[in-house]
Parts: sequence; structure tokens; C-alpha cells
Amino acid sequence: MGVKLERIVKPYYDWLHEGKVMARKCTKCGAVEWPPLLGCNTCGSPDMEWIEMSGKGQMVQMVMPSPITRKPEMNDIKPYCFGVIELPEGPAVNAMVRGVDKKNKDLVAAKLPIDVHMVIIPRDGYDTVIFELDEIPKPE
Ligand SMILES: [Zn+2]
Repeated sequence: MGVKLERIVKPYYDWLHEGKVMARKCTKCGAVEWPPLLGCNTCGSPDMEWIEMSGKGQMVQMVMPSPITRKPEMNDIKPYCFGVIELPEGPAVNAMVRGVDKKNKDLVAAKLPIDVHMVIIPRDGYDTVIFELDEIPKPE
């Protein structure tokens, strides 16, 4: 890992471990990059500052895992789907979303966009961020 990138990655994971999800905000154009990047992806400026994310989001699209996209190492967080999440801070990301299974997937799909929130889960010595439905619809 390059020294420059490590300056971003190390504090990001240290904060995650404390339960804070941080992003980089461009001081020039205001664009927010999460996961954090060295420079602004929108205007190319290297001047970025740290901001704490609200942890909120809205899932606008969803796809159920298939045999190809299923992640065996994530079995303990089942059930989940893959979603496109729009974050109130600006960026949209692809992420795992916990709480969707075969039984309620049509209910969830009918409610899109649906509120989700970030959850920090420990993975093999580091922490990672997934999302979870605020309210998990239960089929009748
Ligand atoms: Zn910018």
C-alpha cells in the first residue's frame, strides 16, 4: 500500500473501529467521497477534509444474490441483498443490505426507495460497513 493512500485508509479503519463512518469532502466543490478517496472524483482537487457520515441512506435498487454473486464468507449476516444506496451526503454506492430474503423481497421491492442505515461489522481483523433495512417487512 502506498504511503499516500495509507494516510487515508489507516485513519478510516481506526475510526470505523470506534464506530464512526467517515468520508472525505472536497473543500473546493463540496463533493463527498465514500469510501474515502485521496482526491476529489468530481473536480480533481486534492484538498479534501474528513466528515462524519450520518449513517443513513435510501436503497433505490436491489438485486438478490445469485450463485455467482453469493458471498460464502458473509453467511453469518444472511439474509441480505445487494442494493444501490443513495446517501444523504451525496454519493450513491453498491452495498450489501441485511434483512431481505426470498420471502419478503417483493414487499421490499414494492417499497423502494426504502430507508436503510449503516452497520459496522467485524471481518477477519478489520471492520467493514454494510447496510440494514430500518424496518424489515414481514410477509403476512
Ligand atoms: Zn471537488
